[in-house]
Amino acid sequence: MRLVFLGTAAAEGIPGLWCGCRVCREARKRGGKDIRRRCSYLIDSDTMIDFGPDSFWQSQTEHIDLPALRRIIFTHPHGDHLSPEQLYYRHAPGFCVDVPEYPLDILASKETMRELVRGFINGSAVGVDPTQVFDYLRLRPTLVKPGVWTSSDDVEMLPVPASHALGMGAMIYAIRRGGRTVLIANDTGDLAPESWAMLEGVKLDAAVIECTMGLRNPKYHLHLGFDTALAFRRHLVDMGCLATDAPVYANHFSHNGGGLHDELQEKFAPHGITVAYDGLSVEI
Ligand SMILES: [Zn+2]
Ligand SMILES: [Zn+2]
Ligand SMILES: [Zn+2]
Repeated sequence: MRLVFLGTAAAEGIPGLWCGCRVCREARKRGGKDIRRRCSYLIDSDTMIDFGPDSFWQSQTEHIDLPALRRIIFTHPHGDHLSPEQLYYRHAPGFCVDVPEYPLDILASKETMRELVRGFINGSAVGVDPTQVFDYLRLRPTLVKPGVWTSSDDVEMLPVPASHALGMGAMIYAIRRGGRTVLIANDTGDLAPESWAMLEGVKLDAAVIECTMGLRNPKYHLHLGFDTALAFRRHLVDMGCLATDAPVYANHFSHNGGGLHDELQEKFAPHGITVAYDGLSVEI
């Protein structure tokens, strides 16, 4: 299973759209790995995780054939991860001339699915019957349930409730394909005991762990920073889900965390953790 990091920033991107802090000023100068788009991923060539405001740019630079995409798995409904407008451009006629051959599977919690419909109806799909909107866009919705493995063809996923965007159905996912399993845990915060219990017995080949708060490590439980990301990894290892030498990637950085790419990498390297950057492609 190939995993591509399409975007590795938190909501405002890096450089933050309107921000003049040290990280943002330096990122504008340096470019390269310090330019971070809003977080999303590509698995092989047919599956995306989240579809946010940078999806147009990401599909161009990573050569994603969007009409051939088969599924999008959504983590939660925050605007950096879910952009209903971009999906609405599947509508034909009008926005899409040659309609994709297959319906696109949408896998999300009921709260995220509700936000998606609300976005369609409040935006471009004014006047469309909400019960018809998925057919209208050739989308095939599947609700995922906490702690229950769900599949879309040969991609299996275990949604686990995050401690983030409380009440909005935020999930992290163990995703399995071809006998390999990766944990995608951006926008997670530390997990509640019930969520850790859902991961009991799951063998992970790799893990992606958020580090939104970067090097600052404030006492903030809805996102992780350097220390809490390390503790999250330790918890997975202690539970027997992850080998001590399994690949781990830190992801979803905010400029609020105060670290440029090389500063973050220097901090994480002694712990065997790779700092993700836009375009990083790894074989799980
Ligand atoms: Zn986010
Ligand atoms: Zn900034
Ligand atoms: Zn979020």
